[in-house]
Amino acid sequence: MNPSHDLSHQNKPKPKAVIVGGSIAGVSCAHALILVGWDVVVIEKSRRPPKGNPTGAGLALDPLSQELIGSWTGHPELLHDITSPAAIDLNQAINDEKSRKILARDENFNHRAAHWSSLHDHLFSALPPEIFLWGHLFLSFSVSSDKRSVKIRAQVLDTEETAEVDGDLLVAADGWNSLIRKHYFPDIKRRYSGYCAWRGVLDTIGNSVTMKVSDEMIQKMYQDAEKIWHPTFVQVMRETKEPFVNAIYDCDPPERIVWDNVVLVGDAAHPTTPHSSRSTNMSILDAAVLGRCLEKLGSENLTAALEEYQSIRLPVASKQVLHARRVGRIKQGLELPDRKSFNPNTANWEECEMLQLRAVPFFGHNPLF
Ligand SMILES: Cc1cc2nc3c(=O)[nH]c(=O)nc-3n(C[C@H](O)[C@H](O)[C@H](O)COP(=O)(O)OP(=O)(O)OC[C@H]3O[C@@H](n4cnc5c(N)ncnc54)[C@H](O)[C@@H]3O)c2cc1C
Repeated sequence: MNPSHDLSHQNKPKPKAVIVGGSIAGVSCAHALILVGWDVVVIEKSRRPPKGNPTGAGLALDPLSQELIGSWTGHPELLHDITSPAAIDLNQAINDEKSRKILARDENFNHRAAHWSSLHDHLFSALPPEIFLWGHLFLSFSVSSDKRSVKIRAQVLDTEETAEVDGDLLVAADGWNSLIRKHYFPDIKRRYSGYCAWRGVLDTIGNSVTMKVSDEMIQKMYQDAEKIWHPTFVQVMRETKEPFVNAIYDCDPPERIVWDNVVLVGDAAHPTTPHSSRSTNMSILDAAVLGRCLEKLGSENLTAALEEYQSIRLPVASKQVLHARRVGRIKQGLELPDRKSFNPNTANWEECEMLQLRAVPFFGHNPLF
């Protein structure tokens, strides 16, 4: 039969993905899946899109993420407008006398810096608004006995009613504390990195737990800052209302990120410490690889497509998580089983070079792209 006369595919319903979590990984997956012909619903507990919400600091987008985002939104020039160049990767040590030592400097870094909310708004605004269920708190899910469909239960926060949403695929983009990951790994432990960050924004962000701090701790922070930071930065710290502490966590890489018709993406798949500047780039790449695998193998071969996604992303993400963990410990001067603690005053060229983001495994080289 002439393929142009075969109209059967036109009546075939589109496969449907339910994405839990509407942050960077969730909206990226929505783009990648819509692009390859899927219907998408995004379940997000926040009551409304975080438009203009100043929460969050900064993200560094690598060239591939920039290209992918441009291809999803169709407006690479707009991404350029909302980001600033992060052209140099500079590692320097400042000792007590305020003298600086450059440890490593990469002039060809070629990243762009984005405010979390600008990037989110950019990705979100290019999606159909009706695919989002805001104010829906994901509660649980069940996979059908033939493994072909999945049912998601969520609490509608305004009414406290329970809503049910069916789909062919469940995409877990519910972040570092993912309930969906806990379903498969009930005993998984988050791992304290051994260090904290002082922050001046509100709410729990990324792979960190916020803690209230005493006045005494804040005074000690100011004293330490006077010794080691540039005066402008000390001033910013002094003017920040209610600074607080983030204890930084990650998780050991999991053995799987795919089961039946359930897939983990973003921080739900691989919570990581910030030292490889990867978590957002990983989320964007997870979405793109998932889209490519679904496109290549078709929704009728969902199991094979998800297995391929896992075989591509899990080894890469696992290495990057462990690398970030290692660099974090080195930068904090903490010991590692195979090396003494890092001393910026005596470190050799090789030790300093590994502080660069260029040293991250698979930097600039991503299987499938
Ligand atoms: C407001 C905000 C600001 C951030 N700012 C920065 C930053 O400045 N720098 C940086 O490096 N990283 C930041 N991050 C983290 C960064 O987005 C992630 O590390 C990375 O991009 C991976 O994103 P993710 O979508 O996998 O996870 P996350 O960004 O953590 O998103 C998870 C999403 O799932 C939703 N969710 C969780 N549980 C449920 C549930 N039960 N029901 C429904 N929805 C649920 C959350 O509300 C959230 O929107 C921020 C995250 C958020 C949410």
